[in-house]
Amino acid sequence: MKQQKEPLKVCAWCTMVQQVDGSWKLDPEALAAAEADLDEEGLPKVSHGICPDCDAKSFVVCPLCETLCDKQKKHCARCGAVLEVR
Ligand SMILES: [Zn+2]
Ligand SMILES: [Zn+2]
Repeated sequence: MKQQKEPLKVCAWCTMVQQVDGSWKLDPEALAAAEADLDEEGLPKVSHGICPDCDAKSFVVCPLCETLCDKQKKHCARCGAVLEVR
């Protein structure tokens, strides 16, 4: 039987992994395991986000394609979506 797991939340910029307690740390083993663990659609169980460190360095993750974009830009360089800059 397959276990239903939450996708691993990974910073798209520095690849730090969010831990269960909400903190972020570099965890190459957990990342490699999640990327090797494909779901029914053949997609890795990884969800891209941004860690507080990178967030503070003024990056924003595109809500559509998850590309990491410069906060100075108003649109995603990859898909052209409007970026939600806080
Ligand atoms: Zn980061
Ligand atoms: Zn995009």
